[in-house]
Amino acid sequence: MLMDASPGISVAARPGSPPPTDLQTTVRSLGEQLFSLMEEAGPPSLFSKKGFYGTLMEWAMRDERFKTQLFRFVDVLPALASSGEVARHLREYLGEDQVRLSPALRLGLKAAGGAGWLLGAGAKSQVAGMARQFMLGNDKKEIVATLRRHHDQGIAFTVDILGEAVVSEAEAGQYAQRYLDLMEVLGEETARWPGPCRSNLSPRGPVPVLNLSVKLSALYSQIHPTDPDTALACICGRLRPILRRARELGAFINLDMESYALKDLTLRLFKTIFAEPEFASAPACGLAMQAYLRDCAADLRGLIQWAREHRRRVTVRLVKGAYWDYETILSQQRHWPVPVFEHKAESDASFEDLSGLLLENDDAVDAALGTHNVRSIAHALAQAQRLGLDRRNLEFQMLYGMAEPIKTALLQMDCRLREYCPVGELLPGIAYFVRRLLENTSNEGFLANKFAKGASREELLRDPRRLPGGSGILSAAPGSGILPAGTQDSCPTAAVKGFRNEPHTDFTRPAERENISAAIRDLRQGLRRRHPLIINNEAVSTPDWLPSLNPANQKEIIGYAAQATAAEAELALAAAAHAQRQWACTPAPQRAAILEETARLIRRDKAALCALEILEAGKNWTEADADVAEAIDFCNYYAEVMRQMHRPRRTQAAAGESNFQQWRPRGLGVIIAPWNFPLAILTGMAAAAVVAGNAVILKPSDQTPVIAARLMELLMEAGLPPGVANLLTGPGGRVGAHLAAHPQVDFIAFTGSKEVGLRIWELAGRTPVGQANLKKVVCEMGGKNCIIIDSDADLDEAVLGCIASAFGYQGQKCSALSRLVVLADNYDKFVERLIAAAASLRVGPAEEPGAMLGPVINRDAQQRIMAVIAAGKQEATLGWQGAVPNDADACYVPPAIFTGVPPSSRLFQEEIFGPVLAVSKAKDFDQALELANNSEFALTGGCYSRSPVNLERVKAEMVCGNLYLNRAITGAMVERQPFGGFKLSGAGTKAGGLEYLQHFLVPQVITENCLRRGFAPVEEP
Ligand SMILES: Cc1cc2nc3c(=O)[nH]c(=O)nc-3n(C[C@H](O)[C@H](O)[C@H](O)COP(=O)(O)OP(=O)(O)OC[C@H]3O[C@@H](n4cnc5c(N)ncnc54)[C@H](O)[C@@H]3O)c2cc1C
Repeated sequence: MLMDASPGISVAARPGSPPPTDLQTTVRSLGEQLFSLMEEAGPPSLFSKKGFYGTLMEWAMRDERFKTQLFRFVDVLPALASSGEVARHLREYLGEDQVRLSPALRLGLKAAGGAGWLLGAGAKSQVAGMARQFMLGNDKKEIVATLRRHHDQGIAFTVDILGEAVVSEAEAGQYAQRYLDLMEVLGEETARWPGPCRSNLSPRGPVPVLNLSVKLSALYSQIHPTDPDTALACICGRLRPILRRARELGAFINLDMESYALKDLTLRLFKTIFAEPEFASAPACGLAMQAYLRDCAADLRGLIQWAREHRRRVTVRLVKGAYWDYETILSQQRHWPVPVFEHKAESDASFEDLSGLLLENDDAVDAALGTHNVRSIAHALAQAQRLGLDRRNLEFQMLYGMAEPIKTALLQMDCRLREYCPVGELLPGIAYFVRRLLENTSNEGFLANKFAKGASREELLRDPRRLPGGSGILSAAPGSGILPAGTQDSCPTAAVKGFRNEPHTDFTRPAERENISAAIRDLRQGLRRRHPLIINNEAVSTPDWLPSLNPANQKEIIGYAAQATAAEAELALAAAAHAQRQWACTPAPQRAAILEETARLIRRDKAALCALEILEAGKNWTEADADVAEAIDFCNYYAEVMRQMHRPRRTQAAAGESNFQQWRPRGLGVIIAPWNFPLAILTGMAAAAVVAGNAVILKPSDQTPVIAARLMELLMEAGLPPGVANLLTGPGGRVGAHLAAHPQVDFIAFTGSKEVGLRIWELAGRTPVGQANLKKVVCEMGGKNCIIIDSDADLDEAVLGCIASAFGYQGQKCSALSRLVVLADNYDKFVERLIAAAASLRVGPAEEPGAMLGPVINRDAQQRIMAVIAAGKQEATLGWQGAVPNDADACYVPPAIFTGVPPSSRLFQEEIFGPVLAVSKAKDFDQALELANNSEFALTGGCYSRSPVNLERVKAEMVCGNLYLNRAITGAMVERQPFGGFKLSGAGTKAGGLEYLQHFLVPQVITENCLRRGFAPVEEP
């Protein structure tokens, strides 16, 4: 029955084909046997209805709202410092107004001793008690005693250290050291044990008693999808001492599998490090693989082949996967293919097929099955029987504190059993604990169905292939990770029908990384070109040409930009005025189609445009990619909005009269764009103006003229008629001011600094003789954006969010974080971690994949920011300043964090537009809000808090245009987060929002008297 899928891999049957019926009979009989033994053992402690926890779990399964509130409360609990805080959060999450409890449940909880808990008394110790069911704690004596007790019962162990969320290299180093320390303690202890327990005896001989599970993400804090090579090198650097010691102690090292983003890195690292001569034969090693992944079958075949080729026995711990919700939500949010199966039955069927594949290759790999599902277990046992394997060839692995009756039953059936035992404190372990709670209460999960809902044996032992969604799973293109047809392009949640955000590039895919590297190489072949003005779709040269320089290498000229004077500005105005009359009469759908074609061309040239942003604007790979994606979004979104807006809208239905409102273009506009989002902002403002029927002059920044020239070429290629958009590069002070003041200009769309914005606002406010219109100004300026860190914030998330917001693109975003207000309770702890995280950031030129912090845009900016930092030392404490490469040709600014910054200081009040962060302490939440609002700007703002009441307060009281809760404050997406501020940040417009186009149009209402001789046609509703 065996056939070969690829050289050296044995496969029983064609993937996806149902197993033979006799196998199903064996599965059922083994399942029945397991169930009978389980019944003798009684229910698992978590589901024991008698206990308080049992009641809570039962309750959580009945009421989704209660479950969410309960688990959120559990999540925040370890971070709360006083009993008063615990009581407050309990009220906010589980008070009478928050959750409605049925009288029966209320009674049940009371009887179970929960009333006191609900009132806050001892909640923390209760939850700690609950968590201890799943974790071994941190006390070495306790850990050792528990493992020994289990060993005596014949249960083997693997230990995992909780707290994998490392935000800095210091934390990653500490995490690695904790493994080394734990190995010493356990090595000494297990050496005293009288031989291996029965679960550590396989038919091939004894297996290591000391078994550790390691999470790679905890060994390096700067894993970046664009640069797996550095991640691999750094993780290997921290893993090698662990492997060396493991080899000396005869221990086993398993690599856990985490999120999908880390899957390829984990596999590659495993195959790399265990092929190194030093580790080629020891220590014993293994890897977890997730059957819920569409890729898993292909990956597993690849691993088996590797094991054969390297003659290295590998233990594969096959699990279904612990991050199903996360993977599903994240990929949907990013419009990426969902990498996991969508139906539980598919994951179950995949697990069965892949456990079969492992057993069929028993000569090369050891199967370890991590499951609490009796059907999955019985199926593996039946497969072993079919293949004539001793059932002790495989090992079952289960989580500490879960599924006790299944463990008992397996031991009675003489199976080998290993427990996965997390050790550590509750605070770092809370994520693990919440995952376990979710697993135990999941509606689809085996445990809840068996122990809480009392599903029948027959239901629980059903063949997953016969359940909805369970058939043919392995035909789902292993390795492709492609969504089922039809679901990929739809975005049912978009407010504007037909619009869908352009997905950002998934740089974990090697081909995508190669695209960018190749595009940078290609770009370098064609640097130093001259980029003329474009008027009437024709090139216009000028006597002066300004070089555009690479911020990372001021000797590298990206290109030369023509320098327009007032004379060329006049020519462009004349061309635009002429073109606009015709363009305004072009049907809106036709105008929209040209924008959509532009979007398509930008997508076609995505890698080349990214390369250009990397070299000309100094944006790193992911920032450049996001900017290009946003440019595509602006074109598609405004095109779609215009399609809707161009139809006249009835204002009111009145008998005998028709009343409609329609929009007319404003006329002639100037688009003055900045360099920090060199493609997106220029494209966005131009696209909105043009699709509305206006003609424009594009005046890009002096720093990024080549990107603007490329956009102009794409607009022409897309079919934009001559004169509708004209490109004028040149000095802003001269050409920009001339245009802004010009009487022929009807509107100005500006994004840039407050100084220039206010000047334009003023110029536009004058109405010289001969000017036919009041000028409209769409003006978006800077920010001095603030994030509040509440005393109950999730610090792992807060540190990462603040680092990304403050130092992404060197802080050169108007949305960037520049003021951080931290509640006193958290201040020291938070600032220490923040500084350590900032110090871990990789600094380097934007073209270097994985570099997070690069040079600032040019010499002027560099000198200005350095001067601000120097002056800042007189106002506050320089808490930290980073190091940058000693490269005289690059415009690096050593990033700085100032602490104890007084609100009256320039550091606190003035926009810096660079990698400088001001941190202040607030004694309470009132003061935090007061400090946050103490600014002339109102652009972005944020808050990290787990207090529902404080989050509501922030929503009501924080003064800013875009407010972000519990996430970074940069990275607004078109339509999802229409972007723009007020006060001195802007005039209240929202780029990427539904109303944005209105600023480029004027409304007109048309009323027609339809009554003629007492007769009026019946109007359509
Ligand atoms: C010893 C041990 C080690 C582990 N190590 C890891 C590890 O390294 N990495 C890791 O990710 N997990 C790991 N896990 C966790 C493991 O993935 C979950 O415990 C496991 O998925 C639960 O599966 P089950 O067979 O016990 O339960 P079941 O109830 O049969 O299956 C639940 C699982 O089905 C899948 N699922 C649920 N809903 C859907 C759906 N709609 N569509 C498709 N699939 C769905 C999910 O994977 C879910 O966890 C480990 C578990 C054990 C026991």
